[in-house]
Amino acid sequence: MNITHISAECYPVAKVGGLADVVGALPKYQNNSSISSQVIMPYYDVKFTQANTFTSVFKSELSIGDLTYKFNILKLKKNNLDFDVFFVDIPNLLFKDYVYSFSDTERFLAFQIATLDWMLSWDKYPDIIHCHDHHTGLIPFMLQESFKYESFRKIPNILTIHNAQYQGWFSHDNVNLIPSFNFDNVGLLDWGGNINPLAAAIKCAWSVTTVSPSYMEELKTSANGLESLLSSESSKCSGILNGIDSNVWNPETDSYIVKNYSKKTIASGKKANKKELCDTFNLDIEKPLFAFIGRLVDEKGSDLFPEAFKIALKNPNISILLLGSGNKEVERKLEALKKEFKGQYNAFIGYDEKLSHIIYSGADFLLMPSRVEPCGLNQMYALRYGTIPIVRSIGGLKDTVTDISEEHGFGICHDNVTVTEITTAIKRGTKLYEKQPEFKKIRTQIMKIDHSWDASAKQYINLYNSIN
Ligand code: ADP
Repeated sequence: MNITHISAECYPVAKVGGLADVVGALPKYQNNSSISSQVIMPYYDVKFTQANTFTSVFKSELSIGDLTYKFNILKLKKNNLDFDVFFVDIPNLLFKDYVYSFSDTERFLAFQIATLDWMLSWDKYPDIIHCHDHHTGLIPFMLQESFKYESFRKIPNILTIHNAQYQGWFSHDNVNLIPSFNFDNVGLLDWGGNINPLAAAIKCAWSVTTVSPSYMEELKTSANGLESLLSSESSKCSGILNGIDSNVWNPETDSYIVKNYSKKTIASGKKANKKELCDTFNLDIEKPLFAFIGRLVDEKGSDLFPEAFKIALKNPNISILLLGSGNKEVERKLEALKKEFKGQYNAFIGYDEKLSHIIYSGADFLLMPSRVEPCGLNQMYALRYGTIPIVRSIGGLKDTVTDISEEHGFGICHDNVTVTEITTAIKRGTKLYEKQPEFKKIRTQIMKIDHSWDASAKQYINLYNSIN
């Protein structure tokens, strides 16, 4: 079976968030003697593409509205990724030093058209086309409706929703950008009076998945406007929990961290990594270290951090460290706190893959007070590195973290996203840290939890088989 994933992100090539981690891991775990899984993604001007060399495997031109763009399909000359990746290069349009900007309609539409135009030239079409998020959401529609892709009608295709907040909508005035189709079916593109790529994919894909079972349920009542659509299409929708790539996220082998460790050497391993963090960020190694890693957006509850941290840090016996970027006002407030709580609080405003690994390994607790969390990978990385997650019970967080008050519980959970619930959860963490034998027992216990991709990759294969 040949599975072709189409995505805007793929780790380690280009990563903004969890989408990259998933698309960079799932194909690896799917590939075996009977399955060949590959990725098609945009060619961006980023570190990875600058550091590697490519060969061209296909060249052509695509039309989008009245415009014509030359495009090139590239392949890595030397591929160490365990799966094939093909890059769609559209100079001056897709090839930028960022993944997303504010006006991406034409960029990602051109990416999707170039991908399908290239596929037309293949001797054998994919057995499954697996689309990820709204950037590839017009593909299921074009496979089904566009005249020039008539030969693709029978290819089973899947949409995975990694985040339904972002839908990629644009005005019907731009409908001419989409390769021509029977206009009687224009309604398939529409949601709420706009062309909505995510909605179009939910309507047209043969099967729709979300990245956790709880998120699938939650979307029926809260999906940024798509609730009724997801309810009416629920018979083809299911939730499959993401896994983690245990080749990349493994404290025993992680080359980013200061000292590798296993369940047996967790105490000395975490201590060495915590020391590195405390030395770098002027924090006290003896105090419990609460950390946050992620995008500073309302979805993650990060707008409440400035106030919540101010209250929590009144307890001089805790430390907080934050790594993230996003909302400028929140960034400014989080920067300003540094002066007030010198020696107790620090933040790195930006993106730093290496630092994120050291934080997962060196922190004692990881904060995730998300308003929306489709799956959440951070809590699974934290578990793998023996760092206790403090989460708001929603989406994938609900599916992966059990509160310490319950039998076999190992995390700290709260129900709502408020300053009080965040600070109360931090207090519960501080109390747990004071009971060192219990704290140490839990962190060893959580390292044993298996969230590797094996089980989830199998569920995807079962799904492919069911529609193939
Ligand atoms: P989302 O995709 O909503 O951002 P996920 O929990 O699914 O959230 O995935 C986030 C991924 O991005 C994790 O691998 C996390 O470590 C990483 N990440 C987020 N922000 C940063 C940052 N500022 N620096 C380094 N890694 C980050």
